Amino acid sequence: MNLTLEDLTASSAHRTGHFCLSSGLHSGDYLQCALHLQEPQRAEKAGRMLAQAIRANSIEIDSVVSPAMGGLIIGHETARALDVTSLFTERKGGEMMLRRGFSLRDGERVLIVEDVVTTGKSTREVITILQSYGAKVVAVGSLVNRSGVANPFEPIPYEALVVADFSTWKPEECPLCAKGMEIDKPGSRPGK
Ligand code: ZN
Repeated sequence: MNLTLEDLTASSAHRTGHFCLSSGLHSGDYLQCALHLQEPQRAEKAGRMLAQAIRANSIEIDSVVSPAMGGLIIGHETARALDVTSLFTERKGGEMMLRRGFSLRDGERVLIVEDVVTTGKSTREVITILQSYGAKVVAVGSLVNRSGVANPFEPIPYEALVVADFSTWKPEECPLCAKGMEIDKPGSRPGK
């Protein structure tokens, strides 16, 4: 049982073209995992695969924490497969925090689940927040790792179902810009 980039392309979760990522970098590849996870059976299967990868490391998990919005579905399905609690963090006024009403015990062993790890920066922010609540972040998992490094969270173990080797460029170095190709900024909304 595994997931491939081809599966994500088939579900339109992976598109090629010319994109401005939320990081500001340009790329010829864009991922929107929600399009893969919109079919509950695919989401459930992905959660089972991620749970299996985590279990293979013999890591004990008490709960899964996923950052909203991207991590919610895959995090919940992974928690279901591991038979543990599913919580999430959200950003409020620019600050990442646990959703109101959720709490973590001191020393609670947490698995963080994301859809895509791009630079790892936002995940590291979640790690820091959860540690400030007293939790122990024992592993990170994601559907896709497009960070270009095997584990941006060392020494915390990290598992991804798909490792995608996508090129990204600074706008001034982008070969697609140089060709004059029209750019798509998928994450942008009016007034943002
Ligand atoms: Zn470009």
